[in-house]
Amino acid sequence: MCLFCKIINKEIPSNIILENEKFLAFHDINPKAPVHILAVPKVHVDSFADVSPELMSDMTSFMQEVAREVKIEKSGYRVITNIGDNGGQEVKHLHFHILGGAKLKWGHFSDADTQGHF
Ligand code: 5GP
Ligand code: ZN
Repeated sequence: MCLFCKIINKEIPSNIILENEKFLAFHDINPKAPVHILAVPKVHVDSFADVSPELMSDMTSFMQEVAREVKIEKSGYRVITNIGDNGGQEVKHLHFHILGGAKLKWGHFSDADTQGHF
């Protein structure tokens, strides 16, 4: 079972913000902003590349609810999902980073090779 499935099953503790029958939101263990939440579907999906539009639709509503719950919906925030090796995905269970609580910098991708390797 993957790490986030264990968190969903409460085998590994996490600091939960919001939960319903389909989704869970909890604080990232290594926050990169004053607010850094991970939102995950309870069903195991490897990454955004595999998620159905139907699940994504509910996921969208859930993440909007999370933003309201932690009161960053007006000040603004960022949603990121890393996909695969080049995307920097470490945990292979679909998760969205919800970052906020401060003016976020932009440009932390500047170490990437802009020529790309496709
Ligand atoms: P990725 O790099 O896969 O997009 O993001 C994985 C995220 O999971 C990282 O930001 C990392 O800090 C977080 N993380 C890894 N292990 C744990 C854990 O056991 N608990 C929590 N709450 N977050 C974790
Ligand atoms: Zn999983």
